Amino acid sequence: MWETGSQKSLFRVGYVAIAGRPNVGKSTLMNSLLRQKLSIVSPKPQTTRHRILGILNGDDHQVIFLDTPGLVRPKYSLQATMVKTAWATMKEADLILAMVAATGVDADDEGVFRSLEVFEAPKFLVVNKVDLVSKAGVLPIIDHFRGTGFFREIVPISALKADGLDLLLSLIVRSLPEGEAFYPPEMVSDAPERFFASEIVREQIFLQYGEEIPYSTTVRVEAFEERPGRKDFIRAVIVVERNSQKGILIGKGGRALKRVGRAAREGIEALTGRPAYLELEVRVKKKWRKDPELVKRLGYR
Ligand code: GDP
Ligand code: MG
Repeated sequence: MWETGSQKSLFRVGYVAIAGRPNVGKSTLMNSLLRQKLSIVSPKPQTTRHRILGILNGDDHQVIFLDTPGLVRPKYSLQATMVKTAWATMKEADLILAMVAATGVDADDEGVFRSLEVFEAPKFLVVNKVDLVSKAGVLPIIDHFRGTGFFREIVPISALKADGLDLLLSLIVRSLPEGEAFYPPEMVSDAPERFFASEIVREQIFLQYGEEIPYSTTVRVEAFEERPGRKDFIRAVIVVERNSQKGILIGKGGRALKRVGRAAREGIEALTGRPAYLELEVRVKKKWRKDPELVKRLGYR
């Protein structure tokens, strides 16, 4: 047969999972690539608890990124669910980005990579946070992992400064199968606004409170109403494990909770592009993180 008409360039499409230990910058990378904040980020490990899907559309590609909870050895029911989620996500992937932070690679990272061997998808090593170390600090990491032969590509980046992302993206696209787009081009994610609203509240709790509070907390949006001509009405319930935590969350004269509410409302408004009224309530559910049934009922699966 003859080729007729103009050469049509290939359209590539696929799922790309971002895997690695907590805090290496997985969510920051996804947000930077999408140029939109979909996945919440904090300096504390284990901020991400769900699989977050983000869709990047280009002229010749649709890349569906899957941000995952960090891979850890689970100590309680919630963590077990988080690791299971990360695992199930890897199975769906056409390509796995295994991420380390250039600031410190150790045996735990290697353990994560060994566990990735069971997945058939090709793997890239993404060495993140190169803005924090010298070139001389990055090269030994690249050399070491090149030696293992485990990775199809090794790409140093700074997710935070958006350095090296163009190269990373072009390598990703080249590795994906040919096909037609899975999602309509205007779609950015598969989760509803109320999910993102609960995540934005949770992010503020990770940012504004010390050690134990964020990990003992989950957020459920119980009402999310778009009201034509008026502000959206959102009611979110913050669930903690103990009465003492409820006191800390609310703070003297309710000031701490008000700070959370204000920042979260602004985040939600930035996401939806509509003004919102956000009501927060704090409830105690004793030891919810250790109770598989409650973990499920509170939205983790
Ligand atoms: P995750 O747990 O792997 O999703 O990591 P996050 O994306 O939540 O990032 C953890 C912390 O590392 C946050 O404070 C980020 O701002 C920071 N971070 C992520 N990427 C970079 C980077 O390229 N450079 C620097 N300096 N910090 C980064
Ligand atoms: Mg994350």
